[in-house]
Amino acid sequence: MSDYRAPLADMTFVLNELAGLAGIAKLPGYEEATPDTVAVILEEASRFASEVLDPLNASGDREGSRLLADGTVKTPPGFRDAYLKYVENGWNGLTKPVDFGGQGLPQLVAAAVEEMWHAANMAFDLCPLLTQGAIEAIDLCGTPEQKARFLPPMVAGKWTGTMNLTEPQAGSDLAAVRTRAVPQPDGSYRLFGQKIFITFGEHDYTENIIHLVLARLPDAPEGVKGISLFIVPKVLVNADGSLGARNDVRCVSLEHKLGIHASPTAVLAYGDHGGATGYLVGEANRGLEYMFIMMNLARFSVGMEGVGLAERAYQRAVAYARDRVQGRTPAAGAATIIGHPDVRRMLMTMRASTEAMRAVGCVTAAGMDRARRSRDAGERKAAQAFVDFMIPIVKGWCTETAQEVTSLGIQVHGGMGYIEETGAAQYYRDARIITIYEGTTGIQANDLVGRKTQRDGGAEARRVAAEADNAARICAAHADPSLAAIGRNLADAVAAMREAIDWVVGEGGNEPSAAYAGAVPYLRLCGLVAGGLQMARAATIARGHLDRGEGDAAFHTSKIATARFYAEALLPHARPYLHAMTAGSAAALALAVDAF
Ligand SMILES: Cc1cc2nc3c(=O)[nH]c(=O)nc-3n(C[C@H](O)[C@H](O)[C@H](O)COP(=O)(O)OP(=O)(O)OC[C@H]3O[C@@H](n4cnc5c(N)ncnc54)[C@H](O)[C@@H]3O)c2cc1C
Repeated sequence: MSDYRAPLADMTFVLNELAGLAGIAKLPGYEEATPDTVAVILEEASRFASEVLDPLNASGDREGSRLLADGTVKTPPGFRDAYLKYVENGWNGLTKPVDFGGQGLPQLVAAAVEEMWHAANMAFDLCPLLTQGAIEAIDLCGTPEQKARFLPPMVAGKWTGTMNLTEPQAGSDLAAVRTRAVPQPDGSYRLFGQKIFITFGEHDYTENIIHLVLARLPDAPEGVKGISLFIVPKVLVNADGSLGARNDVRCVSLEHKLGIHASPTAVLAYGDHGGATGYLVGEANRGLEYMFIMMNLARFSVGMEGVGLAERAYQRAVAYARDRVQGRTPAAGAATIIGHPDVRRMLMTMRASTEAMRAVGCVTAAGMDRARRSRDAGERKAAQAFVDFMIPIVKGWCTETAQEVTSLGIQVHGGMGYIEETGAAQYYRDARIITIYEGTTGIQANDLVGRKTQRDGGAEARRVAAEADNAARICAAHADPSLAAIGRNLADAVAAMREAIDWVVGEGGNEPSAAYAGAVPYLRLCGLVAGGLQMARAATIARGHLDRGEGDAAFHTSKIATARFYAEALLPHARPYLHAMTAGSAAALALAVDAF
């Protein structure tokens, strides 16, 4: 076993040197987020993660949340208290609007803090994560009255929020939603239907839960254009903000799952006793459009779950490898398995992948902040184009890579990794959901191919590739052989990405089935290169610090070594991805459906 320690040195480096925190702190409304203040916030968050959340992770996994006979849900021992401490310490309102009691900090700061929560106890953080989505939806599309009534208690964490999208026949395809909303004379609606897989749809943390529900009006057109969004409180809220009668929404069962056992995944029944009272958010029939606006943030957060779980798995694997004695190792001074070259390869793969994902996630978060707050409209537009391109990559690539990292975490432990007591297995099990919810990897990849690459003729994808090429050129020109190697490997991976973009826009565009059969390899290729770009920048910056004799020499030396490993051992996978998408997509479609 090991205790979680937030990687503060790397987080600080990424925030300040790669994501440009000082520049973000100059944007209107973010003036509080100076590097000094942020360092204190990260320190505090790290303490909360290590002291409060991490100790509950394994027990929460063992005990799970339970549905009681009266329809209430009991979360595992300690979780409710931890939640109350979490909101008391103000963590719930970190990035939320100041007008509703939040602290209005940049997404960049939230990205690092969220990583810590996910690493320490991902099941715990799902409740705040979903509340954040519900707050975002109401803030974006609600009436002033809805905002005044629901947002202050949600921002304060007094009430939590959920996202109710999925139904048995409507998962990836939300156009198939059947829950009905019937207008009432007083302007409210009565909802009838069933939602499945609703995270923290019922729990014992708070006195109220605000469900954001997708449903159809009686006269709604078929398909995506006929779905509306509703606020449905578990307990109705009076005009003065006090709580009224229990609403007609009940938890009828909890799912038994592979992982995240502490997070209750609820089946919710709406309207079994006359209809659940709901309030329309925004305009009728625009619910899916609103969902997609706020999904950017939720998808980003799920990507950061991948980063957090990968970091946690890495830390546990290192602790085990330092301790486990097995055979004689060739490395001087290493009597434990950390001296075996193959164990080192696994640990370096875990470390380099995690650092690259963290950097990609944080640079994207900084893009979100610029897209919201830059003074110049052109800069906002450019930042938004970057964010739009990166969101499916952060979600898809970070979560898929986390599968490999958490799996390697088990492998480093040998047989003990498969046994629950080391904890390595829990990260692997918990990680398995992140490539599925908030849109599967297939859905992210379709988005990257269709909306994010083909729609603008590959313009933003090529701009990112050009940035990576530039970083490669800077490295390649360096006298340091590590940087030169990084430059060469990155340049080759970028060349593969360029070919892939051309194929997606050209040949793939003419043959949509082929483009979509190659979509996941394309996403993985773009993620790999985006990681390579940030690792190359990191190595160049670290080299500069070493040359000038500034800062922590051991950290900067390790950063260059890790970036070199990423470039030499991981970036060469770029070409096989290109081959898999261009040549392999026809083969993927070769068998007729009946032949399976
Ligand atoms: C633990 C857990 C928590 C969840 N929390 C919530 C929640 O809080 N709120 C909520 O509303 N939902 C939640 N979900 C539901 C989740 O978002 C869905 O499971 C997910 O969107 C996938 O839908 P599905 O399960 O119906 O799979 P399907 O849509 O049936 O997908 C099955 C397979 O088909 C593929 N596929 C489907 N359509 C396409 C396509 N167009 N192109 C390519 N491939 C495709 C998928 O990639 C997948 O591999 C949760 C699910 C779980 C398991």
